[in-house]
Amino acid sequence: INSFFQPVQQLVQLYTQYQQGKAAIGKIRGLLAVRSSVAQLPSAVELPPLFGRIVFEDVTFGYDPERPVLVGLNMDISPGETVACVGPTGAGKSTLAKLVTRFYDPTSGRITIDGHDLRDVTLASLRTQIGVVPQEPFLFAGTLRDNIAFARPSATDDEVWAAVDAVGLRELVERAPEGLDTPLHERGQSVSSGERQLLALARAFLAEPRVVVLDEATSSLDLRSELRVEAALDALLEGRTAILVAHRLSTAMRADRIIVVDDHRIIESGTHASLVAAGGAYAAMFETWAAHS
Ligand code: ADP
Repeated sequence: INSFFQPVQQLVQLYTQYQQGKAAIGKIRGLLAVRSSVAQLPSAVELPPLFGRIVFEDVTFGYDPERPVLVGLNMDISPGETVACVGPTGAGKSTLAKLVTRFYDPTSGRITIDGHDLRDVTLASLRTQIGVVPQEPFLFAGTLRDNIAFARPSATDDEVWAAVDAVGLRELVERAPEGLDTPLHERGQSVSSGERQLLALARAFLAEPRVVVLDEATSSLDLRSELRVEAALDALLEGRTAILVAHRLSTAMRADRIIVVDDHRIIESGTHASLVAAGGAYAAMFETWAAHS
């Protein structure tokens, strides 16, 4: 996880340093391209505005090709569908999410989005249309507005407020001494873990991506915060294609489809109800979870 977002952290430092200048954007783009382990083909084309169908075709991938993490994965995600990945730690759920944003290329097989092989499109046109919500959302020493509008600094106040409302943060912003212009202290010390997650969801909402890839935070929240995060998540995912790495079954249950990743494969796939009825790995996880909550 950390190595995944390390470039992003560096990017944030850059952003903070150069907040005033448009020059930062070019540098940020450059950094993204340099830090990615994949290369853009000279013939890469701009990905047109997405519908959001994502297809995995016999995808095998390993960080070390000798030791595959995922083997022969097939999956067809419809535009607007939410798919939650569950399974044991180390099974490859985050890896699967990283493949969709093309942080890595499959060792064999291919991934397409609206029929375009990810390797055939420009990285910028892919990544600007996919909203990534990392497990540990980063906040930086700018204002609330800067933090929310990070992916779309040109957003108007109305647009920022719409995102704030969508995730239920109006009260937080209105309580802040200077509203949207209130500086967030370094690394968001003044922000609770739940609020931090909501800010990350607001940021993703404002960017209006067709596709959302979300690695759910593992930090436990009190019940009220958890309900707020779930409501915000529903608002964000409405009408968008989404892949969630779900650490809470309460999140997985809300997805249109749940896939259980284990032993390098998708071992089960279906709705919550169908998987519980099937009495397999998911049903066992659910039983354990239900008994403890
Ligand atoms: P999950 O999200 O299901 O917990 P991951 O996708 O994070 O699983 O990890 C799958 C496997 O890949 C694990 O064995 C993990 O150690 C390995 N792995 C994850 N990231 C890297 C990386 N950047 N380099 C090498 N191995 C990695």
